Amino acid sequence: MSSVQEMKALLAPKSIAVIGASTKDGSIGNTVVKNLIEGGYAGAIYPINPKAPDILGIKAYASILDVPGEVDMAVFCVPAKVVLGAAEECAKKQVKGYVIITSGFSEVGHEGAELERRVVEVAKSGGGRVMGPNIVGVLLNESKANASFAPSLPYPGKTALISQSGALLISLDMASFVRQLGASSMISLGNMSDVDFADCIEFYAQDDKTNCISLYIEGVKDGRRFIEAGRKAGKPIVALKSGVSAHGAAAAASHTGSLAGSVKVYDAAFKQAHVIRARDLDELLDRSQALALQPPMKGENICVVTNGGGIGVLSSDSAEAHGVPLKTVPVELQAEFKKCMPDFGSAKNPVDITGGAGLKGYEDAIAVALKSDWVHGLAVLYCETAVTQPDEIAEGILRAVKGTGVTDKPIVACFVGGVKCVEAGKKLTAAGVPFYENPDKAMSALAALRQAALFQAEGIADDYAPMKDVDEAAARAVIAAARADGRSVLTEPEAKKVFAAYGLPVGKSMVAKSEDEAVKLASEIGYPLVMKIVSPQIIHKSDAGGVKVNIKDEAGVRAAYKTILANAKAYKADADIHGILLQSMAPLGKEVIVGSVNDPQFGPTVMFGMGGIFVEVLKDVTFRVAPFSPKTAMDMLPEIKSYKILQGTRGEKRLDQEKLSEIISRISQLVSELSDEIAETDANPIMLYPEGEGLAVVDARVILKKK
Ligand code: ADP
Ligand code: MG
Repeated sequence: MSSVQEMKALLAPKSIAVIGASTKDGSIGNTVVKNLIEGGYAGAIYPINPKAPDILGIKAYASILDVPGEVDMAVFCVPAKVVLGAAEECAKKQVKGYVIITSGFSEVGHEGAELERRVVEVAKSGGGRVMGPNIVGVLLNESKANASFAPSLPYPGKTALISQSGALLISLDMASFVRQLGASSMISLGNMSDVDFADCIEFYAQDDKTNCISLYIEGVKDGRRFIEAGRKAGKPIVALKSGVSAHGAAAAASHTGSLAGSVKVYDAAFKQAHVIRARDLDELLDRSQALALQPPMKGENICVVTNGGGIGVLSSDSAEAHGVPLKTVPVELQAEFKKCMPDFGSAKNPVDITGGAGLKGYEDAIAVALKSDWVHGLAVLYCETAVTQPDEIAEGILRAVKGTGVTDKPIVACFVGGVKCVEAGKKLTAAGVPFYENPDKAMSALAALRQAALFQAEGIADDYAPMKDVDEAAARAVIAAARADGRSVLTEPEAKKVFAAYGLPVGKSMVAKSEDEAVKLASEIGYPLVMKIVSPQIIHKSDAGGVKVNIKDEAGVRAAYKTILANAKAYKADADIHGILLQSMAPLGKEVIVGSVNDPQFGPTVMFGMGGIFVEVLKDVTFRVAPFSPKTAMDMLPEIKSYKILQGTRGEKRLDQEKLSEIISRISQLVSELSDEIAETDANPIMLYPEGEGLAVVDARVILKKK
């Protein structure tokens, strides 16, 4: 059965049993039954209680095995120590959805984790899926199932909100009414012993009552599935990731027992999963609202119509900060706008119809904007004035939008003012135009809608295809030999063999065991050359005085040989020295670094940055989860702050970004195909040359996984 089919028992249940239903007012077992009744759940409700004949007027059963009909979902409100026994009965009854509200599992430590594992095992043995434990429950507006201890079903709408934190879910449930954040459902994931974000994304991707999937994430468990589910959803997903500060990460980890990955890796994973980012709770809800109510913005031209210069300029600043800068509207369009405003207005963008324009000015300008081919998205800003009524302006906006018949361009509104503005905003939101109380939020909303369109244009298919000209077996042979030697660190020549097997240009190099051999090899390689120490114990060769560059002749080789050996011995007396590496000296280029680490959630990742202080001091790097195509690698390049160097500054030529992208993609393939063996790699530095001249990988490092 597909995950979506299985998830139906949890997200669209036809019947619900409440294990631990109670007659005691205020208890969770009582609240859940009450919530199901008050929410208007139309399916069968089966309270399970060994003593009470009925609960809140509904016939109760001593055991789930006594229930006459089929049971889709069981909500667990019993103490942790009896959950397993109850789960065994549910499995016998072939219950398909386990909603385990009970706490006291993996979040409290090892014993709890073991119990949690066994509960999942039992549930799965009967073909069931487990939500939780340690959750508030599920709130499903479509089935009117408030299978939770949250006060009521949320404000109805088209956002599926999925939260790892339960308390946050309850508060957002209540906040949904204040903000008119319409939810198709609100789900609490808790410990994610079985069902996780990916399962919910897959389900809501195919649910036509849901336009936007909104996530509060502390950490994902299976990063790769998350990326795949997100990308395949083909529908806007917006996420707030907590635990991005060092202290916050520790709090999140102890909260749910899940490890929070590094910020940069999540940044990368979200891009690859087509997940739109939210910086804070407000932005999560603001962006969800826009994505649920409005279509994606298919081009980059935003038009701002305002009656106030101040909020207009603020919107312009915010648009830029959110990555969707305003542009001056074409002159013909300016002429059209000019007709909607007094002489002293401005038609450039923001289109400032001024306080003198009034209701008609708004309606006319909105019509002009929406009908124009140039405009891809519209923000209507309004400052409360004495001569206009917020309510009338809101009506006017809706009338104008309706009048144009345009439905494929997003429109958002922002009113700055008092109570009347808030009231007008409610009307707008209810009619499908998201309302915000400051211009920054309106621009953030449009930026999210733009991002949604960009993801849509990228498509759900991943364009990665492994390169064929690689020799995985050769790479594995090198690794096996090092393992046989009892090592988990490859020397540079070994690492370069692994790199070469994946088509990386590592140049010619050979290891000499004596000074005379070094001289002989030098003449084979040719001058100028570089000599380096080869020792598994000396990972950073320069630190040990183990690198000599630009050696031009035999005398130089002999001198370097002696010095490097002496330096290495002084650095680490017991270092096991394999010899001295000789390699051709690569011409000077711009030094860049490509590296990889294995993330606990997402597996092998690839990092790119400029070498030297850019990476060490400024940490100017960007990541992707491996493997990925050269095109994706190309997208990484502008993400570093020092990108201008790659573009060629001060009369220098643009660097070979095409070759660099190919190499980054090749490294992503290498670390994925060898992910069972490789913990970390580094190509540092890579000498990058001008366009068309390629690059040279001059140093290679491979650290194997501990086995
Ligand atoms: P490590 O990183 O272990 O200290 P490297 O092999 O990276 O040692 O060498 C140190 C520096 O020497 C490099 O950053 C690079 O600037 C230079 N270098 C190393 N190998 C070469 C080479 N083959 N051609 C040109 N420069 C090189
Ligand atoms: Mg190096």
